[in-house]
Amino acid sequence: MDLTLSDEERAVRDWVRTFVEREILPLEPDVLRRERAGERGLPTADLQALQATARKSGFWGVLTPQEYGGMGLGAVMAALIEVELGRSFVPFRFGGTADNILYDANDEQQTTYLVPTIEGERESCFAITEPGAGSDARAIRTTARLDGDGWVINGEKTFITGGNEADFCMVFAVTDRERGANGGVTCFLVDRDQGWTSAYIDTMGEWGPASLTFDDVRVSPSAVLGEVGHGFDLAMRWIGQGRYLLPARALGSCERMVEMAMEHARNRTTFGQPIAERQAIQWMIADSAVEIEALRWLVLSAAWQVDQGMDSRQAQSMAKLYGGIKANEIVDRMLQVHGGMGYTRELPLERWYRELRLLRIYEGTDEIQRRTISRNLLKGHAGVRGIL
Ligand SMILES: Cc1cc2nc3c(=O)[nH]c(=O)nc-3n(C[C@H](O)[C@H](O)[C@H](O)COP(=O)(O)OP(=O)(O)OC[C@H]3O[C@@H](n4cnc5c(N)ncnc54)[C@H](O)[C@@H]3O)c2cc1C
Repeated sequence: MDLTLSDEERAVRDWVRTFVEREILPLEPDVLRRERAGERGLPTADLQALQATARKSGFWGVLTPQEYGGMGLGAVMAALIEVELGRSFVPFRFGGTADNILYDANDEQQTTYLVPTIEGERESCFAITEPGAGSDARAIRTTARLDGDGWVINGEKTFITGGNEADFCMVFAVTDRERGANGGVTCFLVDRDQGWTSAYIDTMGEWGPASLTFDDVRVSPSAVLGEVGHGFDLAMRWIGQGRYLLPARALGSCERMVEMAMEHARNRTTFGQPIAERQAIQWMIADSAVEIEALRWLVLSAAWQVDQGMDSRQAQSMAKLYGGIKANEIVDRMLQVHGGMGYTRELPLERWYRELRLLRIYEGTDEIQRRTISRNLLKGHAGVRGIL
């Protein structure tokens, strides 16, 4: 067993660490100021400028195959990068990526959708959730019916990330009610100018999703992504594509918060002693450090299994569940160590306090991850002894 990083992994990780320190962390006061003014934390133009800077050093499309101009790195490397990016709450991501299921597009669709999305010229959104179907995605009711030489889509989607900014969406609709999710759901690529509309949903965090309305939106047969009736499999593949990356980002945030709290604890004196001398504070730091370490290995183990081509679903669900729960406990403790200052908008803690809450909800709630984990165990698909 070798738990050390290779020279290449260390070099890439260190480059990203330096990039975050030099380019991202200095933006934090501006992001907090903009948010206080009710604006977007990182304007699109600023994000694209940062992405262009990173691209000059080769950081473009971390997981994107090299034949599409990306770095084609593996999951472990992607996780290590995500941890570094998570050290800041600035919503930065490297450019050059596209949704995994767009690689299933035919040649024409690749030219129209996949390649421009990788290049940052087009923006996609993934729309399966509906007012009546979230965790139970099989219950979607949006329909697409054949009419003459095309399909007509009707329905409403909700909580769609990027839905208000995207210029096309991957929308999932029932094309065969009898079969439903078992061969009766199809994915369509639909441009905004084909008639769907969106409305912003205000949330407690940075990621304001949108509701989308399809009212007799007509598309041609060439809008089908993959095959008619195979949409549900695509949706599950999209959702499962990088579940380990969500807790990886939270891991970086937790590391930084504990470092901030230790610094504060050393300097803040009460009753004649730094609070770092108090057992109550030491225990919060100790518990958080242990949980961070456990989370690190859950994330890296899940990513490693992805790289090995193993069935990593159990490991990814475990990392996502544990990461969501522990990141929320850790932000609460680290805010507590900062006392009143932790509650202000001068520090990023209250922002992380709101932001990290999402991790327990999207891309499979805590309860759904537990359902998956226990089902895999009870049905014998996975064991409590893990993969060893
Ligand atoms: C900011 C944000 C961004 C999102 N982005 C997207 C996106 O880009 N595309 C997209 O399609 N969707 C997106 N979603 C939707 C997200 O995936 C759903 O909100 C999530 O799956 C939960 O569904 P729900 O909100 O309908 O809750 P529900 O499914 O109604 O669940 C409500 C509660 O019941 C629990 N519950 C449900 N079923 C069970 C069960 N069987 N056993 C025990 N407990 C259960 C849940 O865990 C939860 O606590 C986003 C959501 C948010 C908040």
